[in-house]
Amino acid sequence: MIPVVRIPRNIPVAPRRSGFARWFWEGLEQGVFETTGCEGCGKISFPPRKDCPKCGSQNYRFHELSGKGVLYSRTMVRMTPTSLIPLAPLSLGIVDLDEGVRLACALLDRKAPLKIGERVQIAAMRFNDGVLFGAQSADDTTTEPGK
Ligand SMILES: [Zn+2]
Repeated sequence: MIPVVRIPRNIPVAPRRSGFARWFWEGLEQGVFETTGCEGCGKISFPPRKDCPKCGSQNYRFHELSGKGVLYSRTMVRMTPTSLIPLAPLSLGIVDLDEGVRLACALLDRKAPLKIGERVQIAAMRFNDGVLFGAQSADDTTTEPGK
């Protein structure tokens, strides 16, 4: 389980939930951060996928991620597309999870901007009408646990 952050407004751009990864978004709403791992070679992929990018196997299993990792890089987007203006300036980062997965996500800079190399925790960002995920400081205790 990962922490859940309530964001009391509507989601600016809802992710597409059709097809294979629908279960990912449904789990994220509950604080479950899950992806797929290859049954053939063990590679963990993110985002979830049916086929392994390393060995080509189509045998996959679900793999729950801790969401714990290190901030690899970050940037601040001040000029956003129109749909993201309510979120500007927007902090975005690249996180290396402990499971060996690298992903891009929003950064939840609450007390101070997250620093490159800092331990972070992925959190579910629960908007009024949808869910996204972002990284917060691993020391942040202001969020509630997932259920
Ligand atoms: Zn594989």
